Parts: sequence; C-alpha cells; structure tokens
Amino acid sequence: MKAAIIGSGFSSLACASVLAQNGYQVTVFEKHGQPGGRARVLEEGGFKFDMGPSWYWMPDIFESFFNRFEKSTEDYYQLQRLSPSYRVFFKNHPFLDVSAELEKLYDQFESIEPGSKQVLKSVLKEAQYKYEVGMKEFVYKESLSFTEFISTKIIAASFKLDLLKSVKSYFGSRFKEERLIQILEFPVLFLGAMPEDTPALYTMMNYADMVLGTWYPKGGMHQVVRAMVDLATELGVNFHLNQNVEEIKVENNKATGLVANGSFHAFDLVISGADYNHTDRVLLKNHSNYSSSYWDKRTFAPSCLLYYIGVSKKIKNLLHHNLCFDTDFQPHAKTIYKSKSWPDAPQFYVSCASKTDPTVAPEGKENIMLLIPVASGLEDTQEIRDHYFDLILNRLEILTGEEIKDHIEYKRDYAIADFKKDYNAYKGNAYGLANTLQQTAFLKPKIVHKKIKNVFFTGQLTTPGPGVPPALISGQVVADYIIKTFHSQLETASI
Ligand SMILES: Cc1cc2nc3c(=O)[nH]c(=O)nc-3n(C[C@H](O)[C@H](O)[C@H](O)COP(=O)(O)OP(=O)(O)OC[C@H]3O[C@@H](n4cnc5c(N)ncnc54)[C@H](O)[C@@H]3O)c2cc1C
Repeated sequence: MKAAIIGSGFSSLACASVLAQNGYQVTVFEKHGQPGGRARVLEEGGFKFDMGPSWYWMPDIFESFFNRFEKSTEDYYQLQRLSPSYRVFFKNHPFLDVSAELEKLYDQFESIEPGSKQVLKSVLKEAQYKYEVGMKEFVYKESLSFTEFISTKIIAASFKLDLLKSVKSYFGSRFKEERLIQILEFPVLFLGAMPEDTPALYTMMNYADMVLGTWYPKGGMHQVVRAMVDLATELGVNFHLNQNVEEIKVENNKATGLVANGSFHAFDLVISGADYNHTDRVLLKNHSNYSSSYWDKRTFAPSCLLYYIGVSKKIKNLLHHNLCFDTDFQPHAKTIYKSKSWPDAPQFYVSCASKTDPTVAPEGKENIMLLIPVASGLEDTQEIRDHYFDLILNRLEILTGEEIKDHIEYKRDYAIADFKKDYNAYKGNAYGLANTLQQTAFLKPKIVHKKIKNVFFTGQLTTPGPGVPPALISGQVVADYIIKTFHSQLETASI
C-alpha cells in the first residue's frame, strides 16, 4: 500500500518509519530543502543554530521510539545530561542555577522558602504518578472518542490526576515564594497556555524537568532529525524535498493522491504532518474536516519572536539554557492570551548551545538564540523586531554584566510572518494548539477525517499536543491506527 506523508517534522518522520516497518511504501513530501520542520538548522558563518526546539526532555519517549525498531538513541546520537539544568534570572534577586541533582534541588528550594523541601518532594511524587499514568493510559491513545478513556484504571486514577484543578491553584496553595512558583510553572509554558488555564494534570512536566532532566544531543537537536531520517531511509522511506504540496485530490470521498509542485502523485493513503489547519482548509480544498469558525475558536499556543546571533566572544554569565524572568510574567502573559498585543516588558529565553557544544560556534565565540513568546496573529514588522531586539539585548547585557551588542557578528530574526510563510502556520503559531482542558485528548482536532477514510492528520495540532516528544507520539499513534484499520487490505494487496 502506498502512503504519502506531507511534511517532515518529528510527527511525520515517526509515522513514516512505523508505516515502512509494517510494509507500506512511504514517500515524504517536504516543501523545504531540509527535513525537520520547526527543528530545521541554520548554518551561517561557522555558527550552527537549531531554529526551533532546544530542550531535549522526556528521553524515555525518544528511546522507546527507537526501541520499536530494535535500535537505541545511542545508535544515532550521543546524549549528555545538562548539570545544572538551567539558569533562572529573577527580578530583585540573584540568579538560580536549577540543580540536576534532586537532593541539591530540594536544598535550593528549602533555602528560598523554609519547609518547601518536603512540599517539593510530594509535588514530584504526584508528578511522577501523573507522568506514569499519563504515558501509559493517555498520550498513546487515538483520542477519537471519550469512551477510550473509560477504563477502571483511568477512573480510579482520575481523582489523583487533578484534571479539574489548574496548575496555578495547585502551586499557589503549596508555595508562597514567587521564585519557586515561577520555576515550577515554567514547564507548563511549553504547553502553550497560562498556568491558570492548564489542568494540574500537566504538573507531570515537573517530573520531566526535575527528575528525568534536561539533555542535549551532541551536535544539536537537529541530530535527532538526522537520526530519524536515517532510520526512515534504512526502512525504505523515500524523501522528496523541495516539494510543496498544493492539493490533496479527493474523488467520491476518497483521496486519490496529491499534487506537489504542479504534478499529481497517486497514493492509497495521505497523512499530513503539515499544520492541521493548512491541510484542512487549503490542501483539502472543499473537503475540510472542520469549518473556519471552528479554527477561529481554538486557543492557539503562542508564536514567538526569535533572534539567532553569533557573538565574537565568550559570555561568562550564561549557561546552556537561561530563563530571563526579570520582569513580571502576568502582564506579558495577558498580552499573549488575552489582549493579543505586543508586550511592554517581556520575559525571554536564551539558549547558548556553545556552552556545551564546541561544534556549534567557532572557537572563542558563542551561539545564541533569543526567544520571546508572543501572541499568534500579531502584526509583524521589521521595526517591531528591531525594537524588541534592542530591548532584550539591553536587559541581557545587564543580567550578564557583559557587552554583547558590539560583538555580534551574525544576526537573523524570525517571527510570526516567517512561521506563516515557512510552515503555513495558522496565524503564525509556533507551537500549535494550547493544551487547555477544552483542547485535551478527544477534544483536540482528530487524527482521522470524518468523511474521507484514507486521509489522516498528525503533528502538534492534533493529539497529544505540542512539543517534540508529543510529536513523536503523534506520528506513532496515527501509524498504528492506520496499520490496525488497513491491515486486512494490506494483506490482500501483498498476496
Ligand atoms: C522556536 C521553537 C522552539 C521550540 N522549542 C521546543 C523545545 O525546546 N522542546 C520541545 O520539545 N519542543 C519545542 N518546540 C515545539 C516543537 O518543535 C514542535 O512541537 C514539533 O517540532 C512539531 O513537529 P510537527 O511534526 O508537528 O511538525 P512541524 O515541525 O511543524 O513540521 C511540519 C512540516 O510540514 C511542512 N509543510 C507544511 N506545509 C507543507 C506543504 N504544503 N507541502 C509540503 N510540506 C509542508 C513544513 O515545511 C514542515 O517541515 C519548539 C517550537 C518552536 C517553533
């Protein structure tokens, strides 16, 4: 059976390998000349920037993906646990290097808020329970119907999963010190919603952060893409790069194939890992799964304003990952989720991968990515980008005590308009759909098309959600569903 996969992000790559392993002839169509989607790499002047993801969390998910093929991540890339995990700059307080060693981390908490050591221990115990139940019982589900979640195990667990409590109230009732709450709430920002709108189920991310740890694949996150492309190629997947898919052809409620760069290609199945809304409203033409008002009503995760800069000297006071929480998050968060406007004093994130990896910058220089989360759909002009660059660079110079501006030898900015142009991202979103309660599990856009039985969707806008590990899971869930659904047809076809 011939399957076409649109896009080469993590979800598409995962889907491609699982299908190929199960006898499908798989072809990936990617509009860019390089695979990886939002995890593409930018190489300029001796600097090698990961354009998107930089935090390698939940190593168990990557490992279990490769294990499906009797491989290990070690067969493809080398992982290093970062220690300390990351640095947090605060307002009116010295920075804190969040320890990768649990006992030290408990002591760090205790020194900031007496009594918080025991509270953190119980938070992480609960988070571990949520993580284990979540990984076993929730995230690998097709999420087609509510009934998938009715099992005695899930019902028994549901009381302990804190589905109806928010992350904000969960931590607010346990800790007083704002700095600790900021550290604990930060992983939730990966999920694209405010802590008050995110179910406390997702405190499982604190287990991922503090217990499973922050890792780095030597050479950068793009090594993971390379690994997945190598695996897929070994399994026989064909990659067609620089192929922009323009339409999924449908006749009599059945997809017959797709049109890429003006040419028609016939396929038995089409799976899209391109942004769901683009596939649904553009590529499927008048066969959309959802109406435009449905999409309008979804809560999108933020977009972001990014700067990739090459600095001609070493910067002392940065670690690999740095969170600049030197302003208040509430006003910034409101501009992202409520007023949908540009922030006055945004918090931001600084990645400095050259602190760990000498291959990503020339000797004696730093590779820096600056990231400001912003609302999707905002007007995006060069003046605005320049304004925020000056603003956060001034702050970074103060936070690090280093002159940086005069030492920049490479700079590229990237924002909402680029996400739209490069990824066909709805309103220029960076991270897909927010994981609010109303958009969790079976309440997300579905992996199947309601009417066209041989069209499927994968990626960060469908189940289980945004982030690299969820994208890996999404691709596997869709492939497994297809294999289950089309199994008898495939057997007949190969006789
Ligand atoms: C700046 C940034 C930082 C992030 N940081 C992290 C992090 O640290 N850790 C983490 O876990 N996650 C992070 N994420 C989220 C993570 O990168 C994404 O959730 C994940 O990579 C999405 O994968 P995907 O498979 O859904 O698709 P995508 O990566 O979006 O890939 C979709 C692909 O489809 C292609 N495509 C679109 N339209 C067409 C078309 N018409 N024809 C052909 N091809 C098409 C695109 O070119 C793209 O290659 C970050 C994201 C961004 C943007």
